[in-house]
Amino acid sequence: MIIDSHAHYNNNAYKKPFRYLSYGVEGYALKEGELPQLMQEMEKADIRYFIEPGVSLQSCGEVLELAAQYPGRIFPAVGVHPTRSIFETWSDRHKLDAYANTPGVIAIGEIGLDYHYKREEQHRLKQHIWFIYQLNLAWKKKKPVILHVRDAHEDALRILRMHPARKLGGVIHCFYGSKEITEQYLKLGYHIGIGGSVLQQEERTQELWGAIPHIPLERILLETDAPFILPYCKDVIQPKLLRRTRNSSLILPAVIRRIAELKGISADEVEQATAENTIRLFRLPVLEDDP
Ligand SMILES: [Zn+2]
Repeated sequence: MIIDSHAHYNNNAYKKPFRYLSYGVEGYALKEGELPQLMQEMEKADIRYFIEPGVSLQSCGEVLELAAQYPGRIFPAVGVHPTRSIFETWSDRHKLDAYANTPGVIAIGEIGLDYHYKREEQHRLKQHIWFIYQLNLAWKKKKPVILHVRDAHEDALRILRMHPARKLGGVIHCFYGSKEITEQYLKLGYHIGIGGSVLQQEERTQELWGAIPHIPLERILLETDAPFILPYCKDVIQPKLLRRTRNSSLILPAVIRRIAELKGISADEVEQATAENTIRLFRLPVLEDDP
Protein backbone atom coordinates (compact mmCIF):
# COMPACT_ATOMS: atom_id res chain seq x y z
CA MET A 1 0.00 0.00 0.00
CA ILE A 2 1.30 3.44 -0.96
CA ILE A 3 0.31 6.68 0.77
CA ASP A 4 0.92 10.10 -0.78
CA SER A 5 1.46 12.33 2.25
CA HIS A 6 1.23 15.57 0.25
CA ALA A 7 -0.81 16.23 -2.90
CA HIS A 8 -3.05 19.04 -4.14
CA TYR A 9 -5.86 17.39 -6.09
CA ASN A 10 -8.09 20.39 -5.40
CA ASN A 11 -5.75 22.52 -7.51
CA ASN A 12 -7.33 24.18 -10.57
CA ALA A 13 -4.95 22.10 -12.70
CA TYR A 14 -7.26 19.09 -12.13
CA LYS A 15 -10.58 20.86 -12.72
CA LYS A 16 -10.78 20.27 -16.50
CA PRO A 17 -9.44 17.30 -18.53
CA PHE A 18 -5.66 17.30 -18.14
CA ARG A 19 -2.48 15.51 -19.15
CA TYR A 20 -0.67 13.72 -16.34
CA LEU A 21 2.51 11.77 -15.74
CA SER A 22 2.39 8.12 -14.71
CA TYR A 23 5.05 5.49 -14.16
CA GLY A 24 4.91 1.78 -14.90
CA VAL A 25 7.05 -1.18 -15.93
CA GLU A 26 7.93 0.64 -19.14
CA GLY A 27 8.96 3.80 -17.27
CA TYR A 28 7.33 7.22 -17.46
CA ALA A 29 4.26 7.73 -19.65
CA LEU A 30 1.79 10.51 -20.37
CA LYS A 31 -1.96 10.04 -20.05
CA GLU A 32 -5.01 12.24 -20.38
CA GLY A 33 -8.11 12.24 -18.26
CA GLU A 34 -10.08 13.78 -15.43
CA LEU A 35 -9.75 13.49 -11.69
CA PRO A 36 -12.27 10.66 -11.06
CA GLN A 37 -10.47 8.51 -13.65
CA LEU A 38 -7.05 9.33 -12.17
CA MET A 39 -8.33 8.48 -8.68
CA GLN A 40 -9.53 5.09 -10.00
CA GLU A 41 -6.22 4.40 -11.69
CA MET A 42 -4.35 5.24 -8.49
CA GLU A 43 -6.59 2.90 -6.52
CA LYS A 44 -5.73 0.08 -8.94
CA ALA A 45 -2.03 0.87 -8.42
CA ASP A 46 -2.59 0.47 -4.64
CA ILE A 47 -1.96 4.16 -4.02
CA ARG A 48 -4.59 4.16 -1.38
CA TYR A 49 -4.56 7.30 0.76
CA PHE A 50 -3.71 10.95 0.24
CA ILE A 51 -3.12 13.89 2.52
CA GLU A 52 -4.36 17.11 0.99
CA PRO A 53 -3.06 20.31 2.64
CA GLY A 54 -4.64 23.73 2.27
CA VAL A 55 -2.54 26.64 1.02
CA SER A 56 -4.87 29.62 1.58
CA LEU A 57 -8.04 30.25 3.58
CA GLN A 58 -10.13 29.80 0.44
CA SER A 59 -8.38 26.58 -0.54
CA CYS A 60 -8.93 25.11 2.96
CA GLY A 61 -12.68 25.19 2.27
CA GLU A 62 -12.12 23.48 -1.11
CA VAL A 63 -9.83 20.85 0.44
CA LEU A 64 -12.55 19.96 2.94
CA GLU A 65 -15.08 19.63 0.11
CA LEU A 66 -12.78 17.37 -1.92
CA ALA A 67 -12.06 15.19 1.13
CA ALA A 68 -15.82 14.84 1.64
CA GLN A 69 -16.11 13.53 -1.94
CA TYR A 70 -13.49 10.86 -1.24
CA PRO A 71 -14.17 9.90 2.39
CA GLY A 72 -11.58 7.61 3.93
CA ARG A 73 -9.24 8.18 0.98
CA ILE A 74 -8.35 11.87 1.02
CA PHE A 75 -7.47 13.22 4.46
CA PRO A 76 -7.51 17.02 4.73
CA ALA A 77 -5.08 19.36 6.49
CA VAL A 78 -5.76 23.08 6.86
CA GLY A 79 -3.24 25.88 6.77
CA VAL A 80 -1.96 28.97 5.00
CA HIS A 81 1.20 28.54 2.89
CA PRO A 82 3.96 31.11 3.62
CA THR A 83 3.87 32.64 0.13
CA ARG A 84 0.07 32.94 0.35
CA SER A 85 0.01 34.28 3.89
CA ILE A 86 1.09 37.71 2.65
CA PHE A 87 -2.19 38.04 0.71
CA GLU A 88 -4.47 37.03 3.59
CA THR A 89 -6.20 39.52 5.86
CA TRP A 90 -4.98 39.10 9.41
CA SER A 91 -8.46 39.53 10.91
CA ASP A 92 -9.61 36.49 8.85
CA ARG A 93 -7.25 34.18 10.74
CA HIS A 94 -10.10 32.92 12.96
CA LYS A 95 -11.60 31.19 9.91
CA LEU A 96 -8.65 28.83 10.11
CA ASP A 97 -9.60 27.92 13.70
CA ALA A 98 -13.07 27.01 12.45
CA TYR A 99 -11.64 24.89 9.62
CA ALA A 100 -9.29 23.15 12.06
CA ASN A 101 -12.33 22.11 14.12
CA THR A 102 -13.91 20.27 11.18
CA PRO A 103 -14.06 16.54 11.95
CA GLY A 104 -11.50 14.58 9.93
CA VAL A 105 -8.85 17.32 9.75
CA ILE A 106 -5.62 15.50 10.52
CA ALA A 107 -2.97 18.27 10.57
CA ILE A 108 -2.22 21.97 10.30
CA GLY A 109 -0.49 22.65 6.98
CA GLU A 110 1.04 23.61 4.88
CA ILE A 111 2.72 26.28 6.97
CA GLY A 112 6.25 27.63 7.23
CA LEU A 113 8.68 30.14 5.75
CA ASP A 114 9.72 30.68 2.14
CA TYR A 115 12.47 33.16 1.29
CA HIS A 116 13.01 31.84 -2.23
CA TYR A 117 11.55 34.82 -4.02
CA LYS A 118 12.98 38.19 -3.17
CA ARG A 119 10.56 39.86 -0.84
CA GLU A 120 10.50 42.96 1.23
CA GLU A 121 11.16 42.68 4.96
CA GLN A 122 7.50 43.38 5.50
CA HIS A 123 6.57 40.14 3.74
CA ARG A 124 8.94 38.09 5.87
CA LEU A 125 7.44 39.61 8.97
CA LYS A 126 3.95 38.58 7.78
CA GLN A 127 5.19 35.06 7.08
CA HIS A 128 6.62 34.85 10.60
CA ILE A 129 3.40 36.08 12.20
CA TRP A 130 1.26 33.57 10.28
CA PHE A 131 3.73 30.74 10.93
CA ILE A 132 3.72 31.32 14.68
CA TYR A 133 -0.04 31.79 14.75
CA GLN A 134 -0.50 28.43 13.01
CA LEU A 135 2.01 26.66 15.27
CA ASN A 136 -0.04 27.98 18.21
CA LEU A 137 -3.16 26.61 16.52
CA ALA A 138 -1.53 23.19 16.04
CA TRP A 139 -0.58 23.13 19.71
CA LYS A 140 -4.09 24.20 20.76
CA LYS A 141 -5.76 21.55 18.58
CA LYS A 142 -3.07 18.95 19.34
CA LYS A 143 -2.36 18.24 15.68
CA PRO A 144 0.93 17.61 13.85
CA VAL A 145 2.12 20.10 11.24
CA ILE A 146 3.01 19.93 7.53
CA LEU A 147 5.95 22.29 7.05
CA HIS A 148 6.95 24.12 3.89
CA VAL A 149 10.40 25.65 4.37
CA ARG A 150 12.42 26.98 1.47
CA ASP A 151 15.70 28.88 1.76
CA ALA A 152 14.71 29.70 5.35
CA HIS A 153 15.86 26.71 7.41
CA GLU A 154 17.79 28.75 9.96
CA ASP A 155 14.81 30.91 10.92
CA ALA A 156 12.34 28.01 10.75
CA LEU A 157 14.47 25.80 12.97
CA ARG A 158 14.92 28.60 15.50
CA ILE A 159 11.15 29.09 15.76
CA LEU A 160 10.40 25.35 15.88
CA ARG A 161 13.01 24.75 18.60
CA MET A 162 11.29 27.13 21.00
CA HIS A 163 7.69 26.18 20.18
CA PRO A 164 5.90 23.43 22.14
CA ALA A 165 4.07 22.31 18.94
CA ARG A 166 7.26 20.45 18.00
CA LYS A 167 6.24 17.80 20.56
CA LEU A 168 3.31 16.89 18.29
CA GLY A 169 5.64 16.20 15.38
CA GLY A 170 5.10 16.75 11.70
CA VAL A 171 6.78 16.52 8.36
CA ILE A 172 9.16 18.81 6.56
CA HIS A 173 7.75 18.48 3.07
CA CYS A 174 9.43 18.51 -0.33
CA PHE A 175 12.81 18.24 1.28
CA TYR A 176 15.92 19.19 -0.71
CA GLY A 177 18.44 19.95 2.04
CA SER A 178 21.81 18.67 3.10
CA LYS A 179 22.67 15.99 5.66
CA GLU A 180 23.40 18.70 8.26
CA ILE A 181 20.00 20.39 7.90
CA THR A 182 18.22 17.03 7.83
CA GLU A 183 19.84 16.10 11.12
CA GLN A 184 18.50 19.22 12.80
CA TYR A 185 14.90 18.44 11.80
CA LEU A 186 15.34 14.80 12.83
CA LYS A 187 16.69 15.90 16.20
CA LEU A 188 13.50 17.92 16.76
CA GLY A 189 11.47 14.79 15.99
CA TYR A 190 10.24 15.70 12.51
CA HIS A 191 9.69 13.37 9.59
CA ILE A 192 11.11 14.07 6.13
CA GLY A 193 8.82 14.13 3.08
CA ILE A 194 10.49 12.84 -0.07
CA GLY A 195 9.03 12.97 -3.58
CA GLY A 196 9.94 14.18 -7.04
CA SER A 197 12.91 16.07 -5.59
CA VAL A 198 14.78 12.75 -5.44
CA LEU A 199 14.13 12.13 -9.16
CA GLN A 200 15.78 15.26 -10.54
CA GLN A 201 19.04 15.39 -12.49
CA GLU A 202 22.07 14.58 -10.42
CA GLU A 203 23.41 18.14 -10.05
CA ARG A 204 20.10 19.29 -8.52
CA THR A 205 19.55 16.42 -6.14
CA GLN A 206 23.05 15.31 -5.18
CA GLU A 207 22.83 16.80 -1.68
CA LEU A 208 19.56 15.00 -1.00
CA TRP A 209 20.92 11.69 -2.32
CA GLY A 210 23.78 12.12 0.16
CA ALA A 211 21.36 12.80 3.02
CA ILE A 212 18.93 9.92 2.44
CA PRO A 213 21.15 7.07 3.72
CA HIS A 214 21.32 8.98 7.04
CA ILE A 215 17.55 9.39 7.45
CA PRO A 216 16.12 6.52 9.49
CA LEU A 217 13.51 4.66 7.44
CA GLU A 218 10.90 5.22 10.17
CA ARG A 219 11.16 9.00 9.58
CA ILE A 220 10.55 9.03 5.82
CA LEU A 221 7.19 9.85 4.22
CA LEU A 222 6.39 9.69 0.51
CA GLU A 223 4.87 12.65 -1.26
CA THR A 224 4.40 14.21 -4.69
CA ASP A 225 3.20 17.80 -4.15
CA ALA A 226 1.11 17.04 -7.28
CA PRO A 227 0.40 18.81 -9.63
CA PHE A 228 3.90 20.26 -9.06
CA ILE A 229 7.48 18.85 -8.88
CA LEU A 230 7.56 16.66 -11.98
CA PRO A 231 10.47 14.22 -11.93
CA TYR A 232 13.15 14.71 -14.55
CA CYS A 233 12.04 12.67 -17.55
CA LYS A 234 12.95 14.85 -20.53
CA ASP A 235 15.22 12.11 -21.87
CA VAL A 236 12.21 9.80 -22.40
CA ILE A 237 9.41 12.32 -22.99
CA GLN A 238 9.68 15.28 -25.32
CA PRO A 239 10.07 18.48 -23.27
CA LYS A 240 7.39 20.06 -25.49
CA LEU A 241 4.86 17.45 -24.32
CA LEU A 242 5.75 17.97 -20.68
CA ARG A 243 4.47 21.54 -20.80
CA ARG A 244 1.15 21.73 -18.92
CA THR A 245 1.59 18.14 -17.72
CA ARG A 246 0.43 17.53 -14.14
CA ASN A 247 2.33 15.39 -11.72
CA SER A 248 0.37 12.53 -10.12
CA SER A 249 0.81 10.06 -7.27
CA LEU A 250 1.33 7.37 -9.95
CA ILE A 251 5.04 8.32 -9.97
CA LEU A 252 5.49 7.18 -6.35
CA PRO A 253 6.84 3.71 -7.30
CA ALA A 254 9.77 5.56 -8.93
CA VAL A 255 10.37 7.52 -5.72
CA ILE A 256 10.22 4.28 -3.70
CA ARG A 257 12.73 2.65 -6.03
CA ARG A 258 15.19 5.52 -5.75
CA ILE A 259 14.98 5.63 -1.94
CA ALA A 260 15.45 1.83 -1.80
CA GLU A 261 18.56 2.09 -4.03
CA LEU A 262 20.04 4.89 -1.91
CA LYS A 263 19.41 3.03 1.35
CA GLY A 264 20.37 -0.40 -0.01
CA ILE A 265 17.07 -2.03 1.00
CA SER A 266 14.11 -3.46 -0.89
CA ALA A 267 11.35 -1.37 -2.47
CA ASP A 268 8.78 -3.37 -0.47
CA GLU A 269 10.44 -2.30 2.78
CA VAL A 270 10.30 1.36 1.74
CA GLU A 271 6.67 1.09 0.65
CA GLN A 272 5.54 -0.60 3.84
CA ALA A 273 7.53 1.56 6.28
CA THR A 274 6.52 4.87 4.70
CA ALA A 275 2.83 3.87 4.77
CA GLU A 276 3.10 2.90 8.46
CA ASN A 277 4.97 6.12 9.26
CA THR A 278 2.25 8.25 7.66
CA ILE A 279 -0.56 6.41 9.47
CA ARG A 280 1.26 6.72 12.79
CA LEU A 281 2.28 10.40 12.48
CA PHE A 282 -1.13 11.67 11.36
CA ARG A 283 -3.12 9.05 13.26
CA LEU A 284 -4.99 8.24 10.05
CA PRO A 285 -8.21 6.39 10.82
CA VAL A 286 -7.30 3.37 8.64
CA LEU A 287 -6.23 -0.18 9.32
CA GLU A 288 -2.51 -0.75 8.70
CA ASP A 289 -3.02 -4.31 7.53
CA ASP A 290 -6.05 -3.56 5.37
CA PRO A 291 -5.73 -6.00 2.47
ZN1 LIG B 1 2.30 21.55 -1.25
